Amino acid sequence: MLRNEKLWQRVFVLRKNRKRFLRACLSLAGLAAVCGAAFIFGFPSGAGNGFSRSRADVSSTAAASAEPSSAQVSSRAPSSRGAKPDTSITILGAGDDLIHGTIYQQAADRAGGKGYDFAPVYEHVAGLIQKADVSVVNQETVLAGRALPVSGYPLFNSPTEVGDQLVRIGFDVINHANNHILDKGVAGIRATLDYWDTKPVKVVGVYRNDADLEKIRIVESKGIKTAHIGITEMTNGRYLPTGSAYRIVYAADTRKIEHLIKKAKSMADVVVVSVHWGTENTFTLTDKQKKLAQEMVDWGADIIFGNHPHVVQQLQLLTRSSDGAKCPVVFALGNFVSTQLDGKNMVSGLLTVTETKSGGTGKTAYAGMKFTPIVTHYGAGCSNVTIYPFREYTDALAAQHGVRAYTKDFSRSFIQGIVDRSIPKDYQDVS
Ligand SMILES: [Zn+2]
Repeated sequence: MLRNEKLWQRVFVLRKNRKRFLRACLSLAGLAAVCGAAFIFGFPSGAGNGFSRSRADVSSTAAASAEPSSAQVSSRAPSSRGAKPDTSITILGAGDDLIHGTIYQQAADRAGGKGYDFAPVYEHVAGLIQKADVSVVNQETVLAGRALPVSGYPLFNSPTEVGDQLVRIGFDVINHANNHILDKGVAGIRATLDYWDTKPVKVVGVYRNDADLEKIRIVESKGIKTAHIGITEMTNGRYLPTGSAYRIVYAADTRKIEHLIKKAKSMADVVVVSVHWGTENTFTLTDKQKKLAQEMVDWGADIIFGNHPHVVQQLQLLTRSSDGAKCPVVFALGNFVSTQLDGKNMVSGLLTVTETKSGGTGKTAYAGMKFTPIVTHYGAGCSNVTIYPFREYTDALAAQHGVRAYTKDFSRSFIQGIVDRSIPKDYQDVS
């Protein structure tokens, strides 16, 4: 068993490496094509040369007019033989990675006394996350497992092996702006950030000091820069001690949020905000959520991944007032994983947004999205926790779900009903 799991982990490391290798090949192939084209045709000369145009030039072009007319495009764009192709990336958001005690106890049992093995929790959805160019998750619990004793509800501290597994399955950005960030005080935050410093990911939502907060986290894919910010409405009544250098950005601090989003916008093509807000276990949005979502979009946020309510809340496409840009906002993605005890808490989703950068204008814009429902499954007594894509989830599995002890009608149609409450059919990725 352990051997198989080790093998599985190696497969994912290989997949990740293969992904990097393929990206490197594509870059080399692109470079070769560009060089070949230059050799055959010669580069067009002049300021309109798309190949030599710097990023700063691209930004100023985009800033000059949010929606350039075709005349503007053709006057600025290089000749057709030198035109850059459009480039698209996918940006994926996942819900709350909520590590209850039963989840890490099972991971410890699997590892047979040698740490924790979280691979089986995520194995059925790992491919979906791996496939996206940039993936973001809300890590609901601190990962101070090496420095402090691990613990479950209500003051969580999870083993760092959780983070190892999130990295292994392809997450690039980890959000810690949530109500549990202060569960283990400053010591928990310090140990969590020290741990993440050893991993190739960007962490948002909690910062070592003001200077660290001002360093906008950017992940680049295929030449498209995505900037990431994490904010939270609440920290369960716990606060940083007076005089602490650590920083958490609260939703009430709208001046700071506006500043961070505008700064991020000036540095990147796409601004992604992870926000922790709303009311637990309700599908109803609060006025605060609705107001802040529109404000953040107007300040420059392009994608908002909301979390905290433990259920899937509405997916909307908001419009930025200044330039008419379309910006996806999912108010809550639900629990990525948990052992909560209500059927509606088992239903979640992965939101994948496509953003396309125009080769002609250099402007990046929303180009589509899909919501892939996922289901946290466990047996009797919350045993064998694992997440399934809804499309692979059967009524036979639902009949064995431990949550049936509390939600008797848990089934595929129950899950579909939860998804239908909040997600327009056009965006559902269920077949
Ligand atoms: Zn929360």
